[in-house]
Amino acid sequence: MPQTLETATSIIRVDLPKLKRNIEKIRAHIGPNVEIIYVAKSNGYGNGIAEPAVYMRDHCGIRRFATSQIGEALQLREAGITEPILILSAVPFSAVPEFVRQDFTATVYDDSFPHALAAEARRQGKRVKVHIKLDTGLHRIGLAPGAPLAHLIETLRALPELEVEGVFTHLANAYSLDKTVTHHQQALFEQGLAQLREAGYDHLMVHMANTAACVASPECYYDAVRLAALVFGHDISPGEQNRLHLEPVTSWTCYVLNTMWVEAGESVSYYNYYVPKRRTRIALVSFGMGDGYIRAAVSQDISQNSDVLINGHRARLIDLNFDQTFVDITDVPGEVKIGDVVTIVGRDGDEEITTAEIAAHAHTSNGNVCAAITSRPFRQYIYE
Ligand SMILES: *Cc1c(COP(=O)(O)O)cnc(C)c1O
Repeated sequence: MPQTLETATSIIRVDLPKLKRNIEKIRAHIGPNVEIIYVAKSNGYGNGIAEPAVYMRDHCGIRRFATSQIGEALQLREAGITEPILILSAVPFSAVPEFVRQDFTATVYDDSFPHALAAEARRQGKRVKVHIKLDTGLHRIGLAPGAPLAHLIETLRALPELEVEGVFTHLANAYSLDKTVTHHQQALFEQGLAQLREAGYDHLMVHMANTAACVASPECYYDAVRLAALVFGHDISPGEQNRLHLEPVTSWTCYVLNTMWVEAGESVSYYNYYVPKRRTRIALVSFGMGDGYIRAAVSQDISQNSDVLINGHRARLIDLNFDQTFVDITDVPGEVKIGDVVTIVGRDGDEEITTAEIAAHAHTSNGNVCAAITSRPFRQYIYE
């Protein structure tokens, strides 16, 4: 039996109408001539892969998708997404037959993968669309303009089973107010585009910008922007915060499982992790590392730890176990009872906790906090 809202101990609530409003605001910002490619990867940054993508197709006019892995793209196809899906990274050679069967769009940057794709396409009597990936400085996936690109162009010319549809690159530091790196990458990208035009590829779909560049670097737009974080309301761009006035789509709640007093000098959690200096009231709440909360957001110096919200008030985390978490509720006004709702991410009364706040406590990125959330919390999708 699948889990239900009633049986769930920790719940990720995905408010899809907010996502729709975010996309409307993003569209107003980028204008009508730039397409949004929704990048469905890393469990949709905690929101699940398929459901948000299907909603964006059905209600937000998203017609193009990308994933990092072929497994994510298969989840989209299984959910009925027949639209183009660009796989941004490499796939195992053993996955090539399925890749061709599913009409996925490939990212190409070397010789071996295009040859394998073309051979399989021949076997299946199909053509495969490909986007050329230029490496302009991230040094992750892709190849440099100049001689390496010239060689790839020759390879692709000899493989009529492959249809070159697009070209893209990925920014290394769109998160900085200093755009030197971004503009250096763009200059290299432009070199590659000119080289492709000279080779006769003059109608390619060109894309470069991610979330940060979509907000802060319109000069990087071209034909499309590739977005994941932004549609969920995470503006990780430099400068003015949340200038598009996006709403966080995701909230995360759980319950109080137990409360108790602990005397000063007694200890809390495994390994005598926390020894309170004062008589402390503890709430045990129903989430933990097994739900994918970043444990780096807690330390033995609880003054540095991140909070949860209980009855509209902040309460400090003490320690996370796999299944339960200890919270200091000594200063929370009113009575905290077993069964009370605890907000891990989201709003309760006048208080709000964002994933960015948790990331700051854990000295990591917002994306790390979101993508770390496991499949254990129940996903509640709000459609209207
Ligand atoms: C993840 C990813 C994106 C989207 O990133 P966001 O900053 O979350 O919008 C775009 N392009 C590539 C290549 C990616 O890996």
